[in-house]
Amino acid sequence: MSESNFNRRDFLKSACISVGALSLSGCVDTDKSKSADGGNEGGLPSVDVLVIGSGGAGLRAAVAVRKNNPNLSVVVATKMMPSRNATCMAEGGINGVTSFSGGDSYKLHAYDTVKGGAYLVDQDAAIKFCELAGPTIAEMDYIGTLFSRNASGGVDGKESGVPGGVAQRFMGGASKKRCNYSADKTGHILMHACFDDAVSNGVKFLIDHELLEISAPEGKCEGVVLRNIQTGDFYPVLCKALVIATGGYTRMFYNRTSVPYIATGDGIAAALRAGLGFSDPEMVQFHPTGIKSGGALITEAARGEGGYLLNNKGERFMKNYHEKMELAPRDVVARAIETEIREGRGYGEGLGAYVLLDVRHLGKDKILKALPKIRHTAILFEGIDLIEQPIPIRPTAHYSMGGIEVSKFDDMSTKISGLYTAGEASCISIHGANRLGGNSLTDAVVTGKLAGLGAAD
Ligand SMILES: Cc1cc2nc3c(=O)[nH]c(=O)nc-3n(C[C@H](O)[C@H](O)[C@H](O)COP(=O)(O)OP(=O)(O)OC[C@H]3O[C@@H](n4cnc5c(N)ncnc54)[C@H](O)[C@@H]3O)c2cc1C
Repeated sequence: MSESNFNRRDFLKSACISVGALSLSGCVDTDKSKSADGGNEGGLPSVDVLVIGSGGAGLRAAVAVRKNNPNLSVVVATKMMPSRNATCMAEGGINGVTSFSGGDSYKLHAYDTVKGGAYLVDQDAAIKFCELAGPTIAEMDYIGTLFSRNASGGVDGKESGVPGGVAQRFMGGASKKRCNYSADKTGHILMHACFDDAVSNGVKFLIDHELLEISAPEGKCEGVVLRNIQTGDFYPVLCKALVIATGGYTRMFYNRTSVPYIATGDGIAAALRAGLGFSDPEMVQFHPTGIKSGGALITEAARGEGGYLLNNKGERFMKNYHEKMELAPRDVVARAIETEIREGRGYGEGLGAYVLLDVRHLGKDKILKALPKIRHTAILFEGIDLIEQPIPIRPTAHYSMGGIEVSKFDDMSTKISGLYTAGEASCISIHGANRLGGNSLTDAVVTGKLAGLGAAD
């Protein structure tokens, strides 16, 4: 292959390895004599830092290790294509107070997060989290995330004075517009920036490799057992540090969820078997606006842009539930919809019952510019063009607030030495009983980076 023909496919392929080829990749050393620590007893494949999961959290962890110390080998094992996960499905945006935000502060972001989580939030962690959110979004912008832009930055009529600032919109429970977005495809765009950054920084990928077990005798992590999903072969892989970033578990609500098929909580289960705790398992978020058939997501950005909810009397019923109406926190809106249905003000019956989300008044131009993905989703799953008709919706299982118990937010470490966790698989109760819209992508990239730095240390 000549250098001039090198294309994106070659770029991606250059990052993929197999366990059999690990020693050839230069990132894993099965030869005792060459290993930095003098090798291991059984001559097993080993790597400095092994990351499980290639969503936003896993990829930011992997990059953080390499940027901290380029001599460390980092392998990401993932049970699907590296670019397929909940992160790439995220629509509405990513929260954070940046230099483009006028009149907002990270403390106000923390206040909204604590209030939205029904005060069951670890408040110290939430404050640190919101303080890190802004700089992390600037980092995402810098690595090439194609955010939507304003002619000039600023919100609520206050200009930040920065031309071409990252555009921000309202999300539920937020007192300011602080959700940074790329139309309604934020996750997809962020995912590809993170993936390119990982490949460029020398991160290697084991695709179609599934974590089965973590080995942590005497409270110290020594490696994992992986299964190659294509061949069925099992492999032990040793590592000096392990980051679990396997996402959430809301696929257990199999016929009414917005999440991908991979969201089965395997990492959390493996961590439990290895002796770690499972924090806040009872906190599962139902997003108010899942499409009636199957539960695919209609982003909160639809309401953030001005969409509203109607019952069978044509009434904007949210006025009876919360002063912010459709922009109340998700749990409030989801309960309101179910109440309307139970009290006979919904359409249809039983599991097929629903209320309507109407965005028609936003106009065709605005819908095509700000909400193109959900228009496509509504046509695909319900045969409805939301430029012309309201869309039938009902709450859908969406996010796992619970996850692997974290000991220290600063490095996302756990009680098992050498084992770190990040993103939706982890839980340090930043979201309490209810995560605010836009706080989860922030969680993935902020805690991913912290876990990567912890693992590199
Ligand atoms: C439709 C939708 C819309 C959303 N919109 C928003 C939004 O607008 N804003 C927001 O902030 N959040 C949003 N979210 C939530 C957010 O996208 C996720 O919570 C977040 O991206 C989780 O990132 P993660 O890296 O922790 O996990 P994921 O992105 O889910 O990645 C998990 C990774 O782990 C891998 N994995 C899982 N199990 C194993 C195993 N056993 N072995 C190997 N690999 C494994 C998977 O293959 C995957 O690569 C949305 C979610 C969905 C589903």
